[in-house]
Amino acid sequence: MNFIKISNALLGLALFSTSFIMAQHPVINTPPEVSPMAMKPEMTEIWEPEVAVVTPAKKVGDAPSDAIILFNGSSMNQWVSQKDVTKAAAWKIVNNDYMEVVPDAGGIQTKMQFGDCQLHIEWSAPDEVVDGGQWRGNSGVFFQNRYELQVLDSYKNRTYSNGQAASIYKDHPPLVNAMKTPLEWNTYDVIYTAPRFKANGKIDAPARITVLHNGVLVQNNATINGLTLYTGLHNYPESHGEDVISLQEHGCKTQFRNIWIRRL
Ligand code: MG
Repeated sequence: MNFIKISNALLGLALFSTSFIMAQHPVINTPPEVSPMAMKPEMTEIWEPEVAVVTPAKKVGDAPSDAIILFNGSSMNQWVSQKDVTKAAAWKIVNNDYMEVVPDAGGIQTKMQFGDCQLHIEWSAPDEVVDGGQWRGNSGVFFQNRYELQVLDSYKNRTYSNGQAASIYKDHPPLVNAMKTPLEWNTYDVIYTAPRFKANGKIDAPARITVLHNGVLVQNNATINGLTLYTGLHNYPESHGEDVISLQEHGCKTQFRNIWIRRL
């Protein structure tokens, strides 16, 4: 009797130890129905094509070697006026450092067109705080000239949440408010995926956007629900390809600097 009890106890202990060891060290095997032959480590290595080398900037936030420089403080020659795209952008360059919106001059847009991209842009609300809500430092970055990432002085300035800084305007509020004071510069680092359309012009996959505001995640692969509209629900009324990036003129002297982009 004692012998049986002891045997059972030992067997139980052995089973427990085995399952414990297996739980601690799970055996990973490729299922034989996927790989009938024995696998070697090099069989899951990818060598071609070799990954392209990009030299990063010395300072994080500055342009890496493969970026297209859209504005570096010295020239507006990558931009034209939205009122008349045959004319130069009518915003002013200050101190060979930043550009400033000229109220009533209209928005500006890039000469080049883009689809999927990584964009870095720095901006500052006007130093002097005038007005409030949507009239405090309002501007915007429009991807493909259609989808607005809001620029606004959201430092202690309440407005509707999907209209504050780093919102996708009238679509998604930012996850948090990472705004700096009007005397400081803000950064946006954006990963933008353009919408895809079916052959019949209907939307196939909507645009998506990830945004870091001053290094803080504020849009996490968010779905852009369509053309930015001030009134009405957003949608994709027409198919389109690559298009310009535009910066909004909303009557406020918002400032921009260090703008670069990488095609993805
Ligand atoms: Mg705006």
